[in-house]
Amino acid sequence: MNSKINTVTGEIQPKEMGFTLPHEHILVDFIGVEETGKHRYNPEEVINVMFPYLLDIKKLGVTTFIDCTPMYLARDVEILKELANKTNLNILTNTGLYGREPYIPKHAYKESIEELANQWILETKEGIEDTLIKPGFIKTAVDGEEFTEIENKLIEVAAVASNETNLTIATHTCFGEKALQILKVLNDYNVKPQKWIFVHANIEEKLELILQVAEQGAWIELDGVGQEGQDEKILNILDILIDQDYEDQILLSQDAGCYFVGEPNGGEIRPFSPFITEFIPVLRDRGIQDELIQKFTINNPASAFSI
Ligand SMILES: [Zn+2]
Repeated sequence: MNSKINTVTGEIQPKEMGFTLPHEHILVDFIGVEETGKHRYNPEEVINVMFPYLLDIKKLGVTTFIDCTPMYLARDVEILKELANKTNLNILTNTGLYGREPYIPKHAYKESIEELANQWILETKEGIEDTLIKPGFIKTAVDGEEFTEIENKLIEVAAVASNETNLTIATHTCFGEKALQILKVLNDYNVKPQKWIFVHANIEEKLELILQVAEQGAWIELDGVGQEGQDEKILNILDILIDQDYEDQILLSQDAGCYFVGEPNGGEIRPFSPFITEFIPVLRDRGIQDELIQKFTINNPASAFSI
C-alpha cells in the first residue's frame, strides 16, 4: 500500500509535503479541560489574526504546517481547514490526549486503554468531531521526570491507536530518561521507534541521553528554534547528531505562534517566518550543506508523518 499524509483538507502523498514546519501552533487555550471550549473565542478573529503569519511563510516557500495543539487545548480543525484553504498550505492536525493536568478529561482515568484508543481510531477513520477531517498524527504529553500512571496509560493508548491507524506518535517529552521509558512501553506493543517523535528534545541537557534515544531509531525533534537560549543548544546538538550519522532522524521547528485564547486579540504572537529568514542562514553559515538542510526540512518530515 502506498503511504500517505493526512492533512485537514485531505490526503496527499509524502512527496507533496515539501518544506515542512513539524511543530507549530495556530491556537492554544491553557484554561484547562473543565472550562475550555469553542465558546471561549471567535473563530473569525483567530483566522484574521493568524492568516498573515501563515501567508508570510507560504511566500517564503513553506508548504506544510503541522499544528500540534491537542484536544482540550483548543484544537479547532475547522479553523485549521479554513486557514489551509485561504493560504493553500497543507496543515496537519492530531488526535490524542495531552497527559498533563489540567488538560486530562476525567473519562481518561476511568476508561480502559482499548476504549480510549477506539476514540482516537474513530477520529482517524471517520473524522474529528462532526467533520470529515482526519488527524495526521497522534499527540500526547508527559510531564516532569516521574512516569505517572496516567502518562503510562496514555502512551499505551497511543501505541494501540498507532498500531491500528499507522499514525506516528509525537510526545511532548523534554527529558531523555522519560523518552527511553516511553520507547520501552511502545516496544511492549511492538510500535517501532521510527513511529515516535521525541518532542522538545532540545530541552534535555544531557547529550548522551539524546544520543541514546537516537540510537534506538526515534525521531529527535529540536523544536525550540528562536526561543530564548535555545538556538545555540540546538546547533550544538545538531553538530553531534550529524557527526554520529543521525541526520535521517532530525526534525527542526520553532513551537511558535499563536493566538492565545483569553488574551486580547490573541496576545503576543511569535511569527513563523524567522525559521526561514534567520535560522536557515545560520545553518548555512555553519557550513551545513543545502542537501542536509533539505533533509531536515523536506525529506525527514515526509517520512516521519507518512501513514
Ligand atoms: Zn508545542
